[in-house]
Amino acid sequence: MAQMGSTGHGGDGLGSDIQLQWSRIRTRLRTEFGPAVYKNWFKSMTLVGIDGKAAVIGVPTRLRRDWIEQHYRERIRAFWQAENKAIADVQIVIFAGAAQAGEPDEPAPALAAVNGAEAEERDVGAPLNPRFTFANFVVGNPNRFAFEAARRVAESAASPQWSVPFNPLFLFGGVGLGKTHLMHAIAWQIRCNNPSRRLIYLSAEKFMEHFVRALRQNNTMPFKKMFRTVDILMIDDFQFIGGKDSTQEEFFHTFNELMDLNRQIVISADKPPTELANVEERMRSRLAWGMVADVHPTTFELRLGILQSKAEQMKAALPLRLLEFLAQRITSNVRELEGALHRIVAHAQLVGREITVEVAEEVLPDLLRKAARRVAIDEIQKRVAEHYNIKLVDMHSARRARAVARPRQVAMYLCKLMTQRSLPEIGKKFGGRDHTTVIHAVRRIEELRAIDKTLAEDLDILKRILETGERGAP
Ligand code: ADP
Ligand code: MG
Repeated sequence: MAQMGSTGHGGDGLGSDIQLQWSRIRTRLRTEFGPAVYKNWFKSMTLVGIDGKAAVIGVPTRLRRDWIEQHYRERIRAFWQAENKAIADVQIVIFAGAAQAGEPDEPAPALAAVNGAEAEERDVGAPLNPRFTFANFVVGNPNRFAFEAARRVAESAASPQWSVPFNPLFLFGGVGLGKTHLMHAIAWQIRCNNPSRRLIYLSAEKFMEHFVRALRQNNTMPFKKMFRTVDILMIDDFQFIGGKDSTQEEFFHTFNELMDLNRQIVISADKPPTELANVEERMRSRLAWGMVADVHPTTFELRLGILQSKAEQMKAALPLRLLEFLAQRITSNVRELEGALHRIVAHAQLVGREITVEVAEEVLPDLLRKAARRVAIDEIQKRVAEHYNIKLVDMHSARRARAVARPRQVAMYLCKLMTQRSLPEIGKKFGGRDHTTVIHAVRRIEELRAIDKTLAEDLDILKRILETGERGAP
């Protein structure tokens, strides 16, 4: 492939040696970071020229420039050094002639200089993960509402007519369920579609850190000014703001001022506003005024969808049965699911053959063991009693009315199915019943399950609740 062919800079004043070196560097980047990253970030790079000791590399957009600058510049520089001792530095610039790789991006401004405020915001804000986009987010029932809310906010904030559909947007949910992903997706969309918007994204911890440093240096004015003049303020993991009074106070003022100015605020946390124990009451109630969107625990369908999408992105052809197996067994959160997938794909590449469920069991013993949740008899009794709306004591009582006897049999059946306990042990936990009673219960439920659709559904629901520790699907 002619490396420079598509950019039309083949015949410029750069020596052919330099062109060759550049072409080798591109090949190395592709090898080191893989075709997906290459396509996303490096393909559109153009060698603009050599400026003294620096190779000047053009990219079509500010987004690309910032990202390559932050994440890959050092590597590119090292490659240049290896190719050509005379080149000691690399400059990444926005260059309107650089090839457009076919993803949505802002139109290229001509070699724009970064203004002061922008540079500051970038220092304070956390870097965005290029994988965390709306396009890469798999939507299912548990996260649909949060996804739609995030999209509305991003679209409104990026549109030329400023509007604030709901403010603040408060995203909450358990660990590893995609809150940070959605936050970054909002930020990417705004940065790509309307780079003139001033946006700061950072964690609550970083917010505190910056504030405390400003306090210590007796120099809080720039801090206040910066945070109070942004268009969009995004704070991740807000639960960590708790406790520190002065930071809370500062955040409260920032928050109120931005709200008064009709600026967009987006916050994520692991709990709803009302349950943020360390946060002052006045702050909690203000947070709940806007849109509060819950990211629910994943369902089997969503986990399978995520696995399929990620396997496809990784260009890994894995058997459906294997993906289903993982979606069934790894229910804690999406991060662990991804971890499992990465390990399996790495293993597949290493051994060069198809991965079966059996191989996966060997590769992932720790994740799977953790996932096979230990369920206790007590917990089964409690959940089953809840489900059928009977008293917990009736699990142990001698009452034989159908309304309590049937749920008790269901519970015994689930104990046999889901725990390692022996029949006598199970009987003992059900008011000292004989093990033959347990056998009878198990058989009866097995029979009924085949003919009674409602019971079969009840069993599925209860199993899922017990397997995941969830309180059922949202
Ligand atoms: P949280 O901030 O809620 O703890 P993250 O946003 O960091 O979770 O998500 C953990 C990982 O799972 C990330 O790599 C993220 O991309 C991935 N992930 C979570 N939900 C989804 C989803 N619906 N589709 C695709 N990837 C997801
Ligand atoms: Mg997070």
